[in-house]
Amino acid sequence: MDAYTPTTKSISLKQYGIQHNNVRYQLSPKELHGVTLEKDMGKEASSGALAVNTGEFTGRSPMDRFIVKDDITKDKIWWGNINIPFEGEKFDKLYDKVINYLNEKELFVRDCYACADETYKLNIRVINEYPWSNMFAYNMFLRPDAKELESFEPEWTVVNAPGFIADAEIDGTRQHNFAILNFSKKIALIGGTGYTGEIKKGIFSALNFILPVFKNTLPMHCSANVGDKGDTAVFFGLSGTGKTTLSTDPNRKLIGDDEHGWTADNTIFNFEGGCYAKVIDLSKENEPEIYGAIKQGAILENVILDDKGVVDFGDTSITQNTRVSYPIYHIDNIQQPSIGKDVKNIFFLTADAFGVLPPISKLTPAQAAYHFISGYTAKVAGTEAGVVEPQPSFSACFGAPFMPLHPTVYAEMLSTKMQESGVDVWLINTGWTGGPYGVGTRMKLKYTRAMISAALSGELGLYSYDKYHIHSVFGVAQPRECPGVPTKVLSPRATWNNDEAYYKTAFKLTNAFRENFKKFEEYASEEIRRGGPQRYAF
Ligand code: ATP
Ligand code: MN
Repeated sequence: MDAYTPTTKSISLKQYGIQHNNVRYQLSPKELHGVTLEKDMGKEASSGALAVNTGEFTGRSPMDRFIVKDDITKDKIWWGNINIPFEGEKFDKLYDKVINYLNEKELFVRDCYACADETYKLNIRVINEYPWSNMFAYNMFLRPDAKELESFEPEWTVVNAPGFIADAEIDGTRQHNFAILNFSKKIALIGGTGYTGEIKKGIFSALNFILPVFKNTLPMHCSANVGDKGDTAVFFGLSGTGKTTLSTDPNRKLIGDDEHGWTADNTIFNFEGGCYAKVIDLSKENEPEIYGAIKQGAILENVILDDKGVVDFGDTSITQNTRVSYPIYHIDNIQQPSIGKDVKNIFFLTADAFGVLPPISKLTPAQAAYHFISGYTAKVAGTEAGVVEPQPSFSACFGAPFMPLHPTVYAEMLSTKMQESGVDVWLINTGWTGGPYGVGTRMKLKYTRAMISAALSGELGLYSYDKYHIHSVFGVAQPRECPGVPTKVLSPRATWNNDEAYYKTAFKLTNAFRENFKKFEEYASEEIRRGGPQRYAF
């Protein structure tokens, strides 16, 4: 199914300060694919997908993400090194500079929207310097039909100029690249970086402000899918923990892989119209659905092709963060529209490189609140020789870089929703087993999938002593048995075969939890504070 809506409509960009008419409006993905090849800005892979290099940046640049401090934002944003303030006047000047730059370029423009639920729909106009960035917008945002397009009124504008280079001293940026949100003008201004993720995460960050402040809706950095009985599951987790991988489940309908809202009437809706999957070490055997989605219409980023156009997914010579974007209809089993009701299970995904958290455990409401505020995962050392120590990484709400408000705002909304809907909350360690990174191995995907299936089907049962064991360090309830998973795998301590080393490492992690939680202690109730680990090293 191709959801492209042909149009003869043309548009003028005069209202943005663009004087020329060299504007290619609402091209089909096929056309954009072709234009990219013509301009020698990409290659066609043997799968039919378009392969591009995003240039200097192959990931987001959180230190260059700013929010304009104005009447709307000044008292509401949690300012700091995540939400860095930017002066309105400086923004206007930089905007004019970017527009002057774009006045010399052929432009690719797309009207699209975010939020699959009609009530929350946010119309977006994306203005791109590059054709493949515009194709990314087609893949990732929702696609208006002919009627909607006819009367389309853009609300937010994304101005995306990867080739524009800022002068930090004059422009007020940190360096030559920037992503700036302006809530008064409803503009996301992106320059100096071709990383496409900035486009989708710009709008995500805007919604993370708009929805809780004006629409009483909780925005979440999570994936979601729905089972045969209409039961919705959501999967929170930081980058690389498995949101996209685990929500793409042949037995459940995919709602979305990254960004959702949870409304006051208990509906979950996707913000987006596509997926953005990591493809490092991707294989047809382990992830057939994602593998199959890589065909014409998909855009591969920063992968290496051989001369026949075959991708080597193991080659990380450009970046570890190789990606593919595709419209959601490239996956067979999807929920349409991307809306779920009746949330029954919440999974917190973490890739614990210390290898000490149980691969699956059940959380009490207080533990759920504690872990949501903490947002733990681990970063493994890069590819530098000899560095094998993992680093704990905490990111509140499992998505701090995209959350303009104080984390407790989102945490309180989630707690209320969890109580109202009576969900089960699970902590899933998709990270290491049998020892830390460097010693143990990554949890097998088939085991993680089996654990999630068992949790969803109810096979793990209600909490009871004979079914669960309370972890002596983390305090979470660890199932004793799980269909499809060797019993030993369920106990991280058992997989280490070295109790002393296990506990020593576990305490290292709980100390990191405690250290991180200090800044939230004054906001957390006694109960939530007790939802943290039970034992620490002194
Ligand atoms: P982002 O927010 O950056 O999109 P994500 O949470 O969607 O990140 P994924 O794209 O799902 O993360 O990445 C998880 C990666 O880890 C994939 O490359 C997947 O193949 C790999 N992986 C290995 N073992 C597991 C496991 N047990 N569970 C989940 N993913 C696993
Ligand atoms: Mn993802």
